[in-house]
Amino acid sequence: MNGPQRHPVVLVGAGPGDPELLTLKAIRALRRATVALVDDLVQPGVLRFLRRSARVVHVGKRGGCASTPQAFIHKLMVAEAQRGERVVRLKGGDPFVFGRGGEECDALRAAGLEVEVISGLSAGLAGPASIGVPVTDRRHTRGVALVTGHAGEGGEGSDEPDWAALAQSGLTLVVYMGVARVRTIASALAAAGMDAATPAAVVSQAHTPQQRHALCTLGTLAEVVQAKALGSPAILVIGDVVRVSAQWAVAQQDLAVRRA
Ligand code: SAH
Repeated sequence: MNGPQRHPVVLVGAGPGDPELLTLKAIRALRRATVALVDDLVQPGVLRFLRRSARVVHVGKRGGCASTPQAFIHKLMVAEAQRGERVVRLKGGDPFVFGRGGEECDALRAAGLEVEVISGLSAGLAGPASIGVPVTDRRHTRGVALVTGHAGEGGEGSDEPDWAALAQSGLTLVVYMGVARVRTIASALAAAGMDAATPAAVVSQAHTPQQRHALCTLGTLAEVVQAKALGSPAILVIGDVVRVSAQWAVAQQDLAVRRA
C-alpha cells in the first residue's frame, strides 16, 4: 500500500514584513512549495518567492476578525501533505513566538508527518530594533520578557500575564497583541509600582511601508496610542532601554521645546 511520497511540512517564519528579512532557508522552502498556507500578517512581497504554480491558501486570523479555526488549519496541512504536496505553513515573524507553531507541530506529528521549522525574525525584536531600541542593553536591564497583551480566548484576562510580577522584574517588557488593551496593561503596571516616567515605545506595522511609531512613557502610553491612532499589528516596549534610541533624545527635545 504505497501512498504518495510524504514530504515534511515546513513551518516557515516570514519575519516582520520586509521580504529582505527572510532567511535564505525560508526562501529555499518557498521555492520548493506546491501549497502554501499563509497567515495574514505575511506581507504580499514574501509570496513572490513561491512558484507561480503553487497554490496559496490564506488562513489568516486578525484579532477580533473572522478567522480560520486552528483545527481546520491542522486538517488542511495534514490532508495536503498526505496527498504528496510540499506544504509550507507561512507565518509572520517566528513560528514559535506567539505563532501557535508548537500546536501545529503536535498536530502534524500526531498524524505521522514530519515537521521542519525555519525560524524567522520576530516582530518583538525587529520592531524595537527598527527604532533603535536594543531590548537587552545591559546598561539598563538583565533581560527581556516577551508577553501577550491579548485578553485570551476564555474571556477578559484569562491568559493575562502577571503584570504585577513583570512590573517588579526589571526586565524590558515587549508586548505582542497589546495595543487594543494598552490602557488596561499600562494601568496594571502602574498599579504594581512601575514608575509612570518609565520610557515606552509603540511600533506599528514594523518593517512594512506603513510603519509608524511613537516614543513616550508608561504614563502617556495609552493616550499616545489613541492620539496617533497606532493600530494593530503593533509592539509595545516598556523599559529603560527605550532611552538608548537616538529618537528618544529627539522626542525629549521636542517635548521640551513644546513646553517652553
Ligand atoms: N509570530 C509573530 C507574532 C504573531 S502574534 C512574530 O514572531 O512576530 C501577532 C502580533 O505580533 C501582533 O498583534 C503584533 O503585536 C505583532 N506583530 C507581528 N508583526 C508585526 C509588525 N510588522 N509590526 C509590529 N508588530 C507586529
